[in-house]
Amino acid sequence: MNRGSRVFVAGGDTLVGAALVELLAGGGFDRLVGVGPDEPDLTDAAAVEAFFADARPEYVFLVGGKSGGIALNRARPADLMLDNLRTVVNVVDAAHRHGATKLLYLASSCAYPKHAPQPLRVESLTTGPLEPTSDAYATAKLSGWKLCDAYRRQYGCRFVTGFPANAFGPHDDFGPDSGHVIPALVRRAHEAKENGDAVLTVWGTGTPRREFIYSRDLADACVYAMRHYDGDAPLNLGGGTDLTIAAAARTIAEVVGFRGRLAFDPTKPDGAPLKALDSTALLALGWRPATDFRTAISETYRWFLEHAVTEGVGA
Ligand code: GDP
Repeated sequence: MNRGSRVFVAGGDTLVGAALVELLAGGGFDRLVGVGPDEPDLTDAAAVEAFFADARPEYVFLVGGKSGGIALNRARPADLMLDNLRTVVNVVDAAHRHGATKLLYLASSCAYPKHAPQPLRVESLTTGPLEPTSDAYATAKLSGWKLCDAYRRQYGCRFVTGFPANAFGPHDDFGPDSGHVIPALVRRAHEAKENGDAVLTVWGTGTPRREFIYSRDLADACVYAMRHYDGDAPLNLGGGTDLTIAAAARTIAEVVGFRGRLAFDPTKPDGAPLKALDSTALLALGWRPATDFRTAISETYRWFLEHAVTEGVGA
């Protein structure tokens, strides 16, 4: 893949997709196809087919498909599963039939078995039951990986799957009920500061651990994998450090400037106790994350102030 390649970010309006478009455009890739209003509805087979026939992307980053936090996964498992299945079926098949050179599919770390040994190694995929709160979405992601793998085996397609850590950053869903923990807490810490509240409530016990990755770093890891990885095995995409939810919440409160105290609400679900990836294979290829957690939270909060507050994005 070089700057003259026709590159398609399928899901350019998602958290990771937006970071990818920004990174590629900023890096001089001036033949991006399907950007903004030119992107087809990925769940519409005919629209995806027409797009691939016309634009003929050579490199495809498949990062689309609806996703959400623990509450959305519990409330709308069918919607999330169907959207992700349709997306991956349409894009993978079109990429094959229209001769894409390579495709990177982004799955999710929630596709790991709930009780797999930590840090999570790709060998553990499909060895046990999933976390019940996200099993529908996770099953769609596992199917996407297996579909890429099947095209790889049957047709020799260079379709690679990445399993990313929990991503956050600009363009995230900052909705109080639908978003993941980082954007949800950025919003609530901001509102608590504005209202002069004494307490910021954090769901669950605060003890679960998550490996977080800044969306720009994840986009960079995706580009790196597209360029340097062609193995049969999927690739974990993480930087190798995890935090408790309580520690993440404290950093968010500090960055936002909320001076009250944190309270934990154990009536809300904790989800998986720990999700950290073994990213040895990616790190061995020479990739490293560039952004520390606090800096990434600051940039995310700045974006939230500029967009979500005024425009109601993700609300
Ligand atoms: P998960 O990684 O799939 O479990 O998804 P989430 O990002 O939604 O949740 C991660 C952890 O953060 C869980 O233990 C949640 O209970 C906890 N958490 C704490 N406060 C919040 C919040 O306001 N929103 C969400 N979504 N999770 C929260």
